[in-house]
Amino acid sequence: MRVAIQGTRGAFSEAAARSQWPELEVVSCREVGDVVTAVREGRADAGCLAIENSLVGSVTPTYDLLQEAFGDGNLALSREILLPVHHSIMGLTGASLEGIKRVLSHPVALGQCRIWLNRHLPEATLVNAWDTAGSAEIVAREGDPAQAAICSRLASEAYGLSVFEDRIEDDPTNQTRFLTFTRADAATPEPAESTLPQKTSLIVWTDHRPGMLAAVLQAFAGRGVNLTSLQSRPERSAPWTYRFYFDVEGGQLEPRLQEALESIEALASRIVVLGSYAAWQGAGAIVGPTAPRPPHLRPKPDLPLFDRRQHPDGTVVRVGAVEIGGPRPVLIAGPCSVESEEMILQTAMGVAQAGADMLRGGAFKPRTSPYDFQGLGVKGLKFLAEARERSGLPVVTEVMSWEEVPLVARYADMLQIGARNMQNFALLRAAGRSGKPILLKRGGGATIEEWLHAAEYILSHGNPNVVLCERGIRTFERATRHTLDLNAVALVRERTHLPVLADPSHAAGVRSIVPALTLAGLAAGAQGAIIEVHPDPDHAMSDGAQSLDIPGFARLAAQIRAAEPVGA
Ligand code: PEP
Ligand code: MN
Repeated sequence: MRVAIQGTRGAFSEAAARSQWPELEVVSCREVGDVVTAVREGRADAGCLAIENSLVGSVTPTYDLLQEAFGDGNLALSREILLPVHHSIMGLTGASLEGIKRVLSHPVALGQCRIWLNRHLPEATLVNAWDTAGSAEIVAREGDPAQAAICSRLASEAYGLSVFEDRIEDDPTNQTRFLTFTRADAATPEPAESTLPQKTSLIVWTDHRPGMLAAVLQAFAGRGVNLTSLQSRPERSAPWTYRFYFDVEGGQLEPRLQEALESIEALASRIVVLGSYAAWQGAGAIVGPTAPRPPHLRPKPDLPLFDRRQHPDGTVVRVGAVEIGGPRPVLIAGPCSVESEEMILQTAMGVAQAGADMLRGGAFKPRTSPYDFQGLGVKGLKFLAEARERSGLPVVTEVMSWEEVPLVARYADMLQIGARNMQNFALLRAAGRSGKPILLKRGGGATIEEWLHAAEYILSHGNPNVVLCERGIRTFERATRHTLDLNAVALVRERTHLPVLADPSHAAGVRSIVPALTLAGLAAGAQGAIIEVHPDPDHAMSDGAQSLDIPGFARLAAQIRAAEPVGA
């Protein structure tokens, strides 16, 4: 196997390539471009190029070469290699460290050994060389015992030098990432269904308009494709414009990546997919196991995942220490909207004292009118997190769009998907990937079947922790805001193993009947209730008419707890 590297024998690129091909023959090249040419012209079977160092970042000459080298499909990237970079200092056999007056190496390597050099050779002159192994070659050739080189230990063997000391680098985490490649006709393509982790690299050019780069990122994010690197390089022929280099997890033939690439192709002014290759799997690996295929491309399960027969004993969803779906009804209480720090702290402490298990409160509010209060947004999330710290109650809050799932998940213990978003499928998919328990409200006009299938979206995207919440449906009756569908509560308990809660507040729209509806919901089989509670309901910024005050909630909670069987 002839492998082309930039630099002379003994270079770090050779050490990287040898980790793959221990018996290789080195084809030494002066510049990175020559490595590509050597493989193209058949003087080497493969090439190995440094692309990034963990301390100093991108190897820009390699980046600048990628499009030209891999854009035409004649060469194929084959794998990624991570090499720990350990520097050794070496000189002529018989020479001693005390006699060293000049130390040669690549300036980056000299910089990475500064502490050791200051301590052991404070008087020595540091001399920049073209590459690390090349400095060993010079020391060997010139035969001066006062000269030393800093490079890979491999170079001492290549040039017959003696190592004075190994691992003299300042930072022991130092490592470099390499890419290997072959001619495309010599490559063994990874099968589409490869279970070995792969990475894909691409270059994207975007129009100079707001949101274009974000849209490209969202094409990955919305499909759960993880990014491992994003670099930009100037576009030489057009000053102050840039091309973006993406490395993402997965192979380009995987369906979710195929979809993402298709939409980026439609969005971007230009895209060049450089190729997919085996991700490094040894120490320091960046890429996780391959993601599962999307549900619609997997065999359909015989029974839906929500079906009670999947777990006849019922599922318990844990939110912190709270168990939803167990024998004890769970009470979630708090305001419709978080209105201020004081207000949410006061409510949290009040409902905690009254026996609530969890705190609710909206930071992002779905309001019918765009002129109404829309919630405090991120500030509201921070106040909720503080209220959790003070009261000890885990927090549930609504997330309205898939893009905001990571943000809300950072602060909340449980994510609420509201009635208006019950069939927002992008949001359901993101909820499936969120890693947080989900409270899925029933849409005001949704059938039980539609509701259960909305839950199936979350379950099938990898999240088993779904709690259903009946919050009233729209009927002909206008005396109340909605009608709490107790049929649904009882029937859904039969049909699914997922826990079911009642939301009497949004069903009622008026606070006087909230206690009665709560008890009715529990009697129908709900395993708890989510109830709007405000310290001063008549001045609430949203849903005041249906909110209980804190003493009102305390009375209701006491009534529910008193009715619980002893020991439950
Ligand atoms: C809420 O919980 O404040 C809310 C907006 O609920 P729903 O989605 O059920 O209307
Ligand atoms: Mn509300």
